[in-house]
Amino acid sequence: MICVLTGGTGGAKFVDGLRQVMPPEEITLVVNTGDDLMWWGLYVSPDIDSITYVLSGLLSRERGWGVKGDTFLCLQAMGQLGEPTWFHTGDRDLAVHLLRSRLLAEGKTLSEATSVICDKLAVKAHILPMSDSRVETRVDTPIGELSFEEYFVQRWYQDPVNSVRFAGASDAEPAPGVIDAIVSAHAVLIAPSNPVTSIGPILAVPGIREALCRAQGKVIAVSPIVANAAVAGPAGILMAAEGLPCSIAGIARAYEDFLDVLIADTRDAGAAEALRGNGLRVQCTQTIMRSAEDKMALAKTVLSFAAAGLLSDKPAARAAAPFGSVND
Ligand code: GDP
Repeated sequence: MICVLTGGTGGAKFVDGLRQVMPPEEITLVVNTGDDLMWWGLYVSPDIDSITYVLSGLLSRERGWGVKGDTFLCLQAMGQLGEPTWFHTGDRDLAVHLLRSRLLAEGKTLSEATSVICDKLAVKAHILPMSDSRVETRVDTPIGELSFEEYFVQRWYQDPVNSVRFAGASDAEPAPGVIDAIVSAHAVLIAPSNPVTSIGPILAVPGIREALCRAQGKVIAVSPIVANAAVAGPAGILMAAEGLPCSIAGIARAYEDFLDVLIADTRDAGAAEALRGNGLRVQCTQTIMRSAEDKMALAKTVLSFAAAGLLSDKPAARAAAPFGSVND
């Protein structure tokens, strides 16, 4: 079993490759819920949705979110009724939000609702929200505090950022299965997701950082920063707001208390050498995922780093990985 910490579009691309090179039932995903929002009275969990759609083959790869081939008739109708339309949700996507909202209203937890939806969509991997409690990413800007979706989708991340906080995190608990998945996995992979607003909320849930520190398998992160810039989105801006350099060194620092191996892009070979001098294992490979082949190649490479002699300093029993089952 491997465990993947993920959120957002970078994570969805990585998981898209992973599901094609190993049996999905051997993957447990711990997913960011800091971006969750109430939209038109419905509970929307953008990162859980993206991962669910990736794993069920429904994701629109063009958009990177939502269901492929979806229509937007409800969005249009809501606009005609004078309702807000800045957060786009397609008609089939909306069906998932309706079902989740009904399950939550009936008293199910977010984990339970996620599991029901995954069963219905024949998802074989295990998707776990980071927590069943509400943890909300709040972005402090000169115009006031915004939710992540207000900052990112409504305002196109144009506002300067003072800081980011995770409201509710200190009282939250990891969702059932999260700690065990991290501690007992043969490897824990941190997807190339935004370290501040996609992985940050997961790490803010009490107990999760500690679990990563005592994970039996190696903790391996893929850098979302290539050549000192985010491949897409506001990761660089948000890292600067948190005092982290926008570089692979910044990624290493964000995860420094539990990171065993950093996978960086070949374009960062020089910076990788400097990090190695500080004692971190850094492996360089092609990390830009443009095509299905790129995604699968990156996933295979990361799994091979996880399974290979790289891990030779783990005790034998802990290093034994089930990657004999990786599909070719
Ligand atoms: P957000 O867009 O900043 O909210 O971040 P997400 O967590 O949604 O994922 C986007 C992150 O993935 C960004 O930090 C990107 O730099 C990174 N990313 C997107 N595509 C790729 C890729 O092909 N390769 C790598 N290494 N990172 C990527």
